[in-house]
Amino acid sequence: MQLWRMTTSILWPNTQFKLSVADATLFPDSALPQMAVAGHSNVGKSSLLNTLFGRKGLVKTSKNPGCTRLLNVFEVDAQLMVVDLPGYGYARAPKVEKKRWAQLIEGYLQSPKAAQLVLLLLDFRHGPKDSDLQMIEWLNEADIHWIAVATKADKLAGNAKRKRIQEMTHALGIPPLLTSSLKNQGMDELRNIIINEIFNDDD
Ligand code: GDP
Repeated sequence: MQLWRMTTSILWPNTQFKLSVADATLFPDSALPQMAVAGHSNVGKSSLLNTLFGRKGLVKTSKNPGCTRLLNVFEVDAQLMVVDLPGYGYARAPKVEKKRWAQLIEGYLQSPKAAQLVLLLLDFRHGPKDSDLQMIEWLNEADIHWIAVATKADKLAGNAKRKRIQEMTHALGIPPLLTSSLKNQGMDELRNIIINEIFNDDD
């Protein structure tokens, strides 16, 4: 922890996949702080996690949207657990699949083992969708702190970019952090935010 705070450019050299669970009740006991990452399918979640943790193949980029049905757990430098929540809002998914997804996520968020911080990923090209607003409602109900992370920020520039920032800030109530996995944009900032949020100086 101390080492993390001392560095300006943070590196997480040892991020490992731990396990996948199909049900929040099967979630392992751990003394480590926990962060979860949520977002629409195809939002760029796998790309962002691989860039954030500096490991290309850590999280498989989705070839088959809507087909991740598990909570995937990673451990960062033996200091932080990261839970990759299944992508939501895949339009063509059958109803029963959507219901199962909602139960899995809601069950996790309401569980005492849920994360203390959630990164909510939003595609900068589209802004928040209904399913994102539903997620925010669940997070607020569960009293879980979340931050808005806009992905694929390289896709908009100039006026379109300014307009989208305004729209997102209005819809979410907080400004999004702009990131791009493609251009490695916003990653150091995001690492710093995570460290400050998870390991603040109050302890
Ligand atoms: P996931 O389904 O949320 O895990 O999304 P992926 O990481 O698999 O990305 C979905 C698609 O968006 C892929 O075609 C990626 O190449 C693309 N993508 C992801 N991140 C970025 C980014 O920062 N910029 C751009 N332009 N495309 C991205």
